[in-house]
Formats: sequence, structure tokens, C-alpha cells
Amino acid sequence: MSKSADLKTRKAAAVPTGVGSRGIYVAKAENSELWDVDGRRFVDFAAGIAVLNTGHRHPRVMEAVAKQAQAFTHTCFHVAPYESYVRLAERLNALAPGDFPKKTMFLSSGAEAVENAIKIARYATKRSPVIAFSGGFHGRTLMTMALTGKVMPYKRGFGPFPAEIYHAEFPQPYRGITTEQALADLDRLFHGDVDPKSVAAIIVEPVQGEGGFNVAPFDFLRALRQLCDEHGIVMIADEVQGGMARTGKMFSIEHSGVVPDLIATAKGLGGGFPLSGVTGRASIMDAAHPGGLGGTYGGNPISIAAAHAVLDVIESEGLCQRAASVGEKMRSRLLSLAKELPCIGDVRGLGAMVAFELVKDLKSKEPDPEVTASILTQAEARGLILLSCGTAVNVVRLLAPLTIPETVLNEGLELLAAAVRAAYGQESKRAVA
Ligand code: PLP
Repeated sequence: MSKSADLKTRKAAAVPTGVGSRGIYVAKAENSELWDVDGRRFVDFAAGIAVLNTGHRHPRVMEAVAKQAQAFTHTCFHVAPYESYVRLAERLNALAPGDFPKKTMFLSSGAEAVENAIKIARYATKRSPVIAFSGGFHGRTLMTMALTGKVMPYKRGFGPFPAEIYHAEFPQPYRGITTEQALADLDRLFHGDVDPKSVAAIIVEPVQGEGGFNVAPFDFLRALRQLCDEHGIVMIADEVQGGMARTGKMFSIEHSGVVPDLIATAKGLGGGFPLSGVTGRASIMDAAHPGGLGGTYGGNPISIAAAHAVLDVIESEGLCQRAASVGEKMRSRLLSLAKELPCIGDVRGLGAMVAFELVKDLKSKEPDPEVTASILTQAEARGLILLSCGTAVNVVRLLAPLTIPETVLNEGLELLAAAVRAAYGQESKRAVA
């Protein structure tokens, strides 16, 4: 029995079924490559779900972490604070869009960042309703599950959820949902369900992650900004997946020119160490009373040291520009593959947040989750790690580290093309039989 097979059996016996995982048990990883316990090598197009924008074990991140570990590893910022936390807040305040005073607090996970953004928005507005979007994903805690607009696998069986959360349509040009239709749906909500003057916050992913890499049209984001201004609503951009240079800008919302009030960050910020943050307008961030915000591990010193190195690397290695060129290469490879294989209905994304949608028929656009699952299996068999997404689980997303060498990127794209061809061939044979 292989070590991986043995671990799969042990995992099934020791870890709850609900904690899903793939069969690749990692032994070591470096930049955009990963080796499993049986010595198999993989090109990593998942990057720990958009966490390793700076790659596995970036030398500068490793060095910063090792140096911090020599000094102290945890004190709790509320008990004995440290300069590096304050300096990282200063750096994010300067980087975030908006020509106004800003403040930042740190937490550990993306869900915690979103939870805190909602807490802050509610406190500042003295209102409670929150608007989120269909297909959006914001985390797995009770509030963030409630905000999430995708039932499986995130919400089924876990309710009841907090009250006063409303979902509106998210634009999806490929599925015929235009900006106008999405705005009409918000209007319906404001007339039928909730008074906009009572809404605390609108939370939006400028590029939906788990929902299928749907890019919010810029006119949609501008209209949301206008609605927020008109009704005194706090606009929250969830940049947990799309932030930290992934889309070619530090924050994905910057492409639209829209300035949100609050930004939730995580994933890429810590370069592989758990760290998240809320950055935003000082007047809103300062609303809560002293002691009202925080947590034991929020802004852990090791993670903060890693984040400083991540920001240095993004700047010194030009990772925003690199995201644009990696994304361009992926997109053109996928577009030529789409001409060859009629199962690819759409290729979309922003920067190096690229995805393709699998359909049974180009006209009906019926989602094809089977061929999607098969692509992931075929890729894994060839040594490529891929992830799916989309409410119908029929989208393959590419999230290679932005530090990926050109040779590994080319290799990964060849493996991807071979996997899609094999999956399509197999599934179409199955359909005929
Ligand atoms: N928000 C978005 C957009 C995400 O993609 C995720 C995770 O995938 C989260 C929030 C939750 O982050 P975490 O899993 O770190 O709690």
C-alpha cells in the first residue's frame, strides 16, 4: 500500500467526514511545486487556495519568520503589543485605495476579517441588515455562512443563520445576468424586503472566488458605491481571495476605480501563515468602544513578520505586473483550447485569477460538473493540482503562485491541456454509451 493510500485510510478513521480533502499528502513544497509522501511531483495551480501568491516557502518570508521566532512568537497584541503590527497597519493604510485617513486591525482567518468588518459597519451605522450576493463566499463561521450565497457544501444542515442578511443577484454576463438586471434585483430588495436607509453594509467580492471567478462589471461596482453613498451604507470589499496582487493590482477593486469603505484581506497577506485584516476609513474603523474588537491570535507576530516580507516581495519582484502576464498566458492557452474542445463555454477572470467554465452544450450552457471533476482527476494523475469552483461546481480555476517560473508555468499549462482533452474524450464516450 502506498503511503498516500495508508494516510487516506487513517484520515477516514481519525478525521470527521465533513473535513474534505484531496488525496495528495504533501511531504515538501517549493515555490510552485509540491512533492507528496510517495515522491510524486506536482505543479501547483492551487497555491493553497490563493494563499501562496509569493509561492511556497519564499526565501524572504522564511527568513523573516525565522528571525521573528528568535525574538518572540506570541504575546497577544492586547497584552503586550509590538511595533511590527503597527507598522503593517501603516503599510496597509497607505496601500489601500482612498484619499482619507485609514486604520487596520489584524485577525487570523478570512472569515474573521469579514465578521469584524460587519461588526464595525454595524457599530458605525447603528444598523443591522447586510446585503450580500448570490454565489458569493465569505467563510464558514455562522455570520459568514449566512452571507455566503452558495448552499453546497457550505450551508446545508448548519442553520439557523443570523437574521437580517439579504442576497441580491450578482452580474454574470455569461449567464445573461447584466449589471442592469442585478441592480434591478437590488431595487426589488429595497422595495420589497429591506429599507435601504436601515442597511448597515453591502459586502461584495470584486471577483467572486468560490462562486466561479465572476468578475463584477466596473459599472456595477460604481453603482453599488453610489447606492452606499445615497443611503449611508458601508461598502465592504471582500478581497480575501482576489487581493494581494493576485489580479494585477494590490486590491482587485482598484481595477474599477471604486473606493470601498472597508476592505477584508487574508490568504495572500500572510504568505502561508494565518493572517487577515480589516482596513478602512478611520471614522468607521474607530466606531467601536475600546476592547470591543480583537482576539487572542489576531496579528500573531510570526504571521505579521511574514506579511512584511510578502509586501516587500510583491514590490521588489513586480508581482502585480507578473500577475498580469501569467494571467494573459493562461487566458490565451485556454481560449485556444476552447476552440478545440466544445466543453469550454467561457474563459474569464482578472489578472492571474483565471477560470474556465465547463458546459454540456455551448448553446444551452448546461453546467457540466462531471467533466469538471474528471479534469481535476486527470490533472492530478498527470502531476498538476487544480481546483474547481462555481455554484454548479462546473468551473476550473487557476491560481498559480505569481512567482511561478516560466518553465513550470508552461509545463502546467501543457498538463492542463492534456487533462482537459482526456476528460472530455472520456466523458463524451460515456455520454454516447
Ligand atoms: N472571503 C473570500 C472571498 C474567500 O475566498 C474566503 C475563503 O476562501 C473567505 C472569505 C474565508 O476565508 P478563510 O477560509 O480564511 O476563513
